[in-house]
Amino acid sequence: MMKEELIFVPGPGIGHLASGLELAKRLLDHDDRLSITTLVMNMPFTPSINSYTRSLTASQSRIKLVDLPQVDPPPPELLTKSAEAYICDFVESYIPHVKTTVTDIISSLSNSDVRVAGFIFDFFCVSMIDIANEFSLPPYIFVTSNAGFLGLMLNLPKRHDEISEVAQRFKDGKGIIVNTFAELEPFALRSFSDDHRIPPVYPVGPVLHLKGQPHPEINQDQLDKIMKWLDEQPQSSVVFLCFGSFGSFSPPQVKEIALGIEQSGIKFLWSMRFPGSPSNQFTNPEDVLPEGFLERIEGRGIMCGWAPQVEVLAHKAIGGFVSHCGWNSILESLWYGVPIVTFPIYAEQQLNAFRMVRELGLSVELKLDYRVGGDLVTADEIAKSVICVMQSDSEVRKKVKEMSEKGRKAVMDGGSSFTSITQLIQDITGNN
Ligand code: UDP
Repeated sequence: MMKEELIFVPGPGIGHLASGLELAKRLLDHDDRLSITTLVMNMPFTPSINSYTRSLTASQSRIKLVDLPQVDPPPPELLTKSAEAYICDFVESYIPHVKTTVTDIISSLSNSDVRVAGFIFDFFCVSMIDIANEFSLPPYIFVTSNAGFLGLMLNLPKRHDEISEVAQRFKDGKGIIVNTFAELEPFALRSFSDDHRIPPVYPVGPVLHLKGQPHPEINQDQLDKIMKWLDEQPQSSVVFLCFGSFGSFSPPQVKEIALGIEQSGIKFLWSMRFPGSPSNQFTNPEDVLPEGFLERIEGRGIMCGWAPQVEVLAHKAIGGFVSHCGWNSILESLWYGVPIVTFPIYAEQQLNAFRMVRELGLSVELKLDYRVGGDLVTADEIAKSVICVMQSDSEVRKKVKEMSEKGRKAVMDGGSSFTSITQLIQDITGNN
């Protein structure tokens, strides 16, 4: 029997890589004819990525990792202008290396019982679709965010021709894989099937890395300290505050958050990082926290830098989550049935926050948008929303629990995402 090889290019950056590799594992679990070669770009500022990818794939022998050669990163000024433009530039500079590597892979398989069936590109890598076309192989796109975001991307080119090179290429995919599930976003997903210009969309989520993300800034001692403290707290009594891999605030906003959680009277675990320090990690908190704060909250709250978020959300002591609304964070909190307070700060998080609160009724509203240099979110507002999310019998909590069950069912044998993955594999391997 012929075996099928997929060539997978995850997006740069640990978040894209993690969900990309989880998707790869999911596909392999589904079909033992498949193997996957993953081409890894090494983004500047993410030194841990190598050991991370190795640890993620150690348990799966049918995933092969190929490190692409280093390229010169784009000028740092571009990063301050637009992080998206920086990433797209970075990805494009890899195109010649990807072509060479793919040529080598195909020729090495030429006399074997393995054939390359197609490509999967992270959505930040859609500029590589032309490579797939050159090899006459089908390109699939993996959207690490949700169906609502995909809808926005598909509509952007209609309205703003010049601003979205990435969005313009989405329709050139043979299919689009999305990290969501049918029960969570039925309307957004239905809108795609009604439009024949949109390639087939495969909701395959929640695709999560539930072992947690290793990080150079977290060591075993820190992790033990956090988990031990949580073990000592009553069920659903602690609110967790964490704002993604890049989330940091100005000192005045940090003060408001501190005063807000203090005022709420609720126990808390706060992952706090600062702009400007390496990887935004936790440095001298006393410089920005309100005077006497650390003494006053002694025993009631703890603070950390990079948090073991998945383990924390899974802990029974956690009753609510103040989040920047990154899509992985939302899926992780839904998985563990923890309701969110929305505090978006960058990227597509305002869209996620809006939909979680207004469309789905699955989160408590603190903020739905962000503006550079916009108003501070006040301590009063923070205290109110934290108290609200911690209510034990709220409608939001009930709905989150229900959605949690639906998400877990979706990925089980016979569930909607399980079926969608089966279809995806059939379509990729039947294409040529
Ligand atoms: N994360 C973590 N500890 C932290 C911050 C983030 O483990 O202190 C993990 C989190 O569990 C999630 C990912 O990093 O899996 C962040 O992804 P998300 O899409 O939520 O946000 P992004 O970082 O891409 O903005």
